[in-house]
Amino acid sequence: MKNYLTASISASAVRHNIALVRSRIAPHVKLCPVVKDDCYGHGMDVLYPVLAGLVDGFAVASPHEALALRRRGYKGFILCLLSAYFDELEVQDELVRQTITQTVMSTTALATIRAAAERVEAPAQVHLKVDTGMGRLGVPVGQAANLIEAIQELADVELTGIYTHFATADETDKTTTLHQLEQFRSIIPNGGNLMVHAANSAAVIDLPEAHFDMIRLGIALYGYPPSKELIHEMDLKPCMEVSAQLIAVKHLPKGSRSGYGLTHEYTRDSRVGIVPIGYGDGYFRNLSNQAVVRINGKNAPVCGRVSMDQMTVDVTDIPEAKVGAKVEIISSDPAAPNRVENLARLAGTIPYEITCHLGHNIRHVLVD
Ligand SMILES: *Cc1c(COP(=O)(O)O)cnc(C)c1O
Repeated sequence: MKNYLTASISASAVRHNIALVRSRIAPHVKLCPVVKDDCYGHGMDVLYPVLAGLVDGFAVASPHEALALRRRGYKGFILCLLSAYFDELEVQDELVRQTITQTVMSTTALATIRAAAERVEAPAQVHLKVDTGMGRLGVPVGQAANLIEAIQELADVELTGIYTHFATADETDKTTTLHQLEQFRSIIPNGGNLMVHAANSAAVIDLPEAHFDMIRLGIALYGYPPSKELIHEMDLKPCMEVSAQLIAVKHLPKGSRSGYGLTHEYTRDSRVGIVPIGYGDGYFRNLSNQAVVRINGKNAPVCGRVSMDQMTVDVTDIPEAKVGAKVEIISSDPAAPNRVENLARLAGTIPYEITCHLGHNIRHVLVD
């Protein structure tokens, strides 16, 4: 970890986003935050205490993430979105012992979970994942009834929920999503006590009829809209600011250039600041010569290529930019040019990838 790179995570922004989402869902609908990949790069260490009291469970990708939540002391509902069949037997057993709800999407996954339940002599809880059109993980709709039956025949595996995932809920045209919803409805068993869930952030915002019993809230929890189409739908507050300090400032005469490939030429005598972050820290290299950082509220353009661990910014017009000055690499202001969505657009990607990549080398601190 690089102590000089700081992600300041705002507890009040996360609380605001949760309150906003709660106001959009019916009171009986459970709110399950998706906290895979270390809370989309925002840091579980800082966010866990904020979230634990406000939510009705957690969804994670891997068995290790699920068990780590139990080690933090979380006793509530945890849904593991991926299957454990390539994990060590001890991990598979521990998932059952620790009552982690596992996803079943095939007979192989079911057999793995059943074997663990037999070994530890305790029942396993599972949710069935159905592929209603995403074409990714999930049992095809046509085979869902058989798999449900197969689970219900097993004494040591309890089917407690059923879910699906939308491929295009973030688009304005909901035709495909509504078709997925219809497919999903067609295989939800009548009666019984299953927890039914389908909504990701986009469907939380834009498709109330898909809220069912629980929502799986990812990107919107952290304060970013799931897509350009849904930007103005909700007053979300981005919860992360990423900052560092200038480690050097130098004068470069007109005509000088910066960085690998010397791709930027200074067209006037310039002051150039060096910022200690690079693509090795998750700051995308294709932000080279495109993005800005902010120093004292003023924009400093990234000049030349982003290196692995550093980059250069033009601070000619920012006299306050001295060694040690705070550099706001990512702003939590939803109107700033260095907000996550804008960097995602410039880098040709989505906010999810920007925040996930930045999470690894950085020190996370909780503010307000
Ligand atoms: C990641 C994930 C989500 C969260 O999606 P967002 O768009 O971030 O809200 C929900 N469900 C599943 C199955 C996921 O993998």
